[in-house]
Amino acid sequence: MGSHGSHLEREPELNLILEETGFSRANLNRLHHRFRYLDRNNKGFLSRMDLYNIKELEQNPLADLIIDSFFPDGGQCVDFQGFVWVLAHFRPLEGKDSAAQDPQKPEPLNSRNSKLRFAFQLYDMDSDGKISKKEMLQILRLMVGVGVTNEQLEIIAARTVQEADEDGDGAISFVEFTKSLEKMNIEHQMSIRILK
Ligand code: CA
Ligand code: CA
Repeated sequence: MGSHGSHLEREPELNLILEETGFSRANLNRLHHRFRYLDRNNKGFLSRMDLYNIKELEQNPLADLIIDSFFPDGGQCVDFQGFVWVLAHFRPLEGKDSAAQDPQKPEPLNSRNSKLRFAFQLYDMDSDGKISKKEMLQILRLMVGVGVTNEQLEIIAARTVQEADEDGDGAISFVEFTKSLEKMNIEHQMSIRILK
């Protein structure tokens, strides 16, 4: 019966997925195996609980937020297309990616701008288009372990927002976020080796 890779070939939107994510067929095949492994009940969908079994996320302090991003609009399950769409933001930039982009095509999901947008949306928990001091504090609380008092974290959160806040509205917009991260190697920070 089916040879290796045949499950992937049965994906209804395979060509669209290949184009949208930039993953090679071999990588997608590996991710498809991974998806089917995580999909223990063989439903064709992953739940939040299934995603907690991704071992690369175990050590990530922002795992909860990253897992949230698989479920936009408050959904309960994610199919293969949605699964690889999120993972594509973490695909490292390769030599071929820096080649001139076809202006007719949408921006690749692993471009610097897409990675920034993805990170911004993780931080902007209430999706109002700004990172508030309260949201910054929540992020810091997740990222900083024990040993730092709440008062200290509040000071750091306020300072971080203040440093990036150019228009003085007390929150960080996407433009301000992009500017404050200009010198940071976000491409590297936002590339996790999920493909073994
Ligand atoms: Ca917000
Ligand atoms: Ca601002």
